[in-house]
Amino acid sequence: MEKKENGEYLALVTGGGRGIGRAAALELGRRGYRVAVNYNTSAAAAEALCEELAALGVQAAAFKADVSRSEDVSALFEAVEGTLGAVQVLVNNAGITRDNLLMRMKDEEWESVISANLTSAFLCTREALRGMVRAKWGRVICVSSVAGLIGNAGQANYSASKAGLVGFAKSAAREYAGKGITVNVVAPGFIETNMTDALKENVRSAMLHQIPAGRAGRPEDVANAVAFLASDESAYVTGQVLAVDGGMTMC
Ligand code: NAP
Repeated sequence: MEKKENGEYLALVTGGGRGIGRAAALELGRRGYRVAVNYNTSAAAAEALCEELAALGVQAAAFKADVSRSEDVSALFEAVEGTLGAVQVLVNNAGITRDNLLMRMKDEEWESVISANLTSAFLCTREALRGMVRAKWGRVICVSSVAGLIGNAGQANYSASKAGLVGFAKSAAREYAGKGITVNVVAPGFIETNMTDALKENVRSAMLHQIPAGRAGRPEDVANAVAFLASDESAYVTGQVLAVDGGMTMC
């Protein structure tokens, strides 16, 4: 497929209202993509982001959906396609934590995390692929975590969901590589967002000590990696895991 201007591409970012998703949506907008911002509970933040994007001259709209639910995801794609057109770049970013020691972990803590973090990516990617296969071009980027690569005590549910994204992305990458569609993973380390604000001070400082770069990451650090994987420049990169972790894992 011949190279297009970024403005011809529509990017859908799940959980795009705040944190890493917000930074990714903003960076894609800055690079000229049109942006669909999915949110579940952060309506005001998602609307504010769309206004910020519009002020930059970017066509953007916010769409409510709980992406862990199949019927919500079908309705989301119908609404996005009806408003902005087919999705060419999908960023599976939505995620939650429900930490607990494995012996104490409740069924609900396991199931809610697997649904929000892993099933959501399956549901959204399945929807997005139809248009991507037709266009013979597509970019799927899954936001995993270093916890999915090396595990983390107290996060068996979260780590399993994030490791699951890696297997999911590699399988999808193999299925669709011949159709001009790449499927890759970014694995953030310790990034300053609401998710990590909730950590106790002793856990924060222990994590910071494990980072060779000597600082926590910023949402923008992850957004830049997402933007590379969304671009034409990454056409020959698929099924890969790009850790954005200041050297924390190097695996
Ligand atoms: P955050 O600030 O807590 O944001 C989480 C986002 O996920 C919110 O936008 C939220 O939307 C959305 N979300 C959660 N459940 C959803 C659902 N069922 N449907 C739709 N949206 C949903 O966390 P963050 O740090 O930006 O995390 C973003 C991603 O990066 C997650 O997948 C997380 O696991 C991953 N990650 C983060 C770190 C880190 O250090 N921060 C490290 C590794 C990986 P609403 O607010 O609208 O509900």
